[in-house]
Order: sequence, then C-alpha cells, then structure tokens
Amino acid sequence: MGKSGKRAEHWHTPATEALRAGPHLRIADLDTNGTPGFDGDKDLGERLLEERGAVLSHLQEMLFANGRTGDERSVLLVLQGMDTSGKGGMVRHVIGHVDPQGVDHTAFGVPTPEELRHHYLWRIRKALPRDGQLGVFDRSHYEDVLVVRVHDLVPENVWRHRYDEINRFERELDDTGTTIVKVAMFVSLDEQKQRLAERLERRDKHWKYNPSDVTERSLWPEYQKAYQDMLDRTNTDYAPWYVVPADRKWYSRIAVTELLIDAFERLDLDWPEPTFDIDTEKRRLAES
Ligand code: AMP
Ligand code: MG
Repeated sequence: MGKSGKRAEHWHTPATEALRAGPHLRIADLDTNGTPGFDGDKDLGERLLEERGAVLSHLQEMLFANGRTGDERSVLLVLQGMDTSGKGGMVRHVIGHVDPQGVDHTAFGVPTPEELRHHYLWRIRKALPRDGQLGVFDRSHYEDVLVVRVHDLVPENVWRHRYDEINRFERELDDTGTTIVKVAMFVSLDEQKQRLAERLERRDKHWKYNPSDVTERSLWPEYQKAYQDMLDRTNTDYAPWYVVPADRKWYSRIAVTELLIDAFERLDLDWPEPTFDIDTEKRRLAES
C-alpha cells in the first residue's frame, strides 16, 4: 500500500493484474463490454472516479513538487485505441483531476511535412514529459506500427524493425526515470458504430466526426492484427501494456485511474524537504 493510504476498494483483483497484457491474450476474444477486476456498477464507478481522482491529484502534486527540487522522474501515460475508444474522454475525465500545470499533454495526428522529414521518434522525443510532469500521449509512436502498417505507408521491411526499436526507446526512458504506463483501449465494432452515429446526430459532436473513420471500419481485421502484434512484441516488464475494455466509459476511466495511481505509488513519493530552516523563516516572517 502506498503513502496515499486507502487501497482501491471494490476491486476484487487490482487493475494492474486484471488488465495486464499477457502472452495468451487474444484481442479478437476480448469482451469489450467487460469490467475486469471490478465488482461495482456504473453509479459506484462514477463515485469512485471522483474519490480516486483526488488521490491521483495528490500523488501528482507530490511528483510535481519533487520535480521543482531536482527529482528527475516523470510518468508517461500512453493511450492507444481506435477512433471513439474514448482517448479524449480519458484525458478530460481522468487527467482532468490533476493540476494542468503538472501535465504535459500531446495528441499525435497525421505527421506534418516537417515531422515526416524526421525519424518517427523525433516528434515523440520532443513531447516527452519534463522532470516532475505527468506526460499524456493521445496516440503515440505506436501509430507507426498501426495506421502506418495497415495503410502501407512504409514498406514492411521498415515497420517490422520498429517493434525492437520502440522497446529500446522505452527501455531508455525507463532507465532515465520515466515510468511508462501503456493503455490499449478496445471498443466493439458495434459500439463504435453507435458512437459514430451519435457524432452525426449531435451538433456539438460533429467536429469529432471524420468521414475517414467509416473507411477505417472496413479495415478492422487488419487493425486487430496490428494491435495484436503490437501487444505481443512490445509488452515488456519496463513498459507493460494494459488492455482496457472500453465499451463502458465509466469502467475504462476508473481502470486507468487505478493504473496511474499504481504507477505513482511505485515512485514512493513524499513531500520534498524544505531547502530553508522553518523556525528561522517563521521568525523572519513574524518580524517582517
Ligand atoms: P484523431 O485522434 O481523431 O485526432 O485522429 C488523428 C489521426 O492521425 C488518426 O487517424 C491517426 O491514425 C493519424 N495518425 C497519427 N499518427 C500517425 C502517423 N504516424 N502516421 C499516419 N497517421 C497518423
Ligand atoms: Mg478521430
């Protein structure tokens, strides 16, 4: 149990165990509507999100405080998932609990002409969290073995080598103090259809709709294969994948909250020691 006190209640199996990708995981067989490890319903889930969000916020503030006094560590949340899997909502409803000044958030879209002139990790390195920050990647370097592979944007003999390269890159990050939490979110094809339909129905959601999302649906099997290979080839001890069923948004949000709390607790954080003498400062302040 970490310094933040309360253990995650209502989880019969910790999210870190229930969601950890393993060698036998087949995403084609995944129950995207499931709530692995969790006993409660939506009401409880929504209440827990607030409670545990406050714990996350507290831990993040400690990391931030330590970053101000020379601690070089950081946490990086990598969010991958097909369109409508809820990556944006994750940022808003989970990361939204923490102080924005402690968050380095980046959404990775189609590379710009400048980005395309560089190695694919170039834009990723530029976006890495600074010391004491919580980095959040909405999509990531994994697009370079997902969309890039599915659409043949580079030949196979190029993307094939990227898995090992990504592993080396993440090892380097881990070695230099960045705790990596990788989350792959999966919705069913049906659930995606409903979410896209809603984007077409609601004026406030039209901006999220992209006609190419429908084209991508026809490539679902190819994406599943690419996601499966990604999980099989880049699920390491130092940068593990967590596979999160995402048909129920309330579940995916509390699950990722727990994964982040676990990552922060493993840092064994405490408030930094003051760099001044408290009594002296109290005296000086009183006399001022
Ligand atoms: P969205 O997340 O809805 O804003 O969409 C971003 C789009 O950028 C998605 O269609 C991604 O597949 C695409 N994208 C992200 N990274 C890459 C990449 N490295 N190469 C090609 N397309 C990408
Ligand atoms: Mg989109």
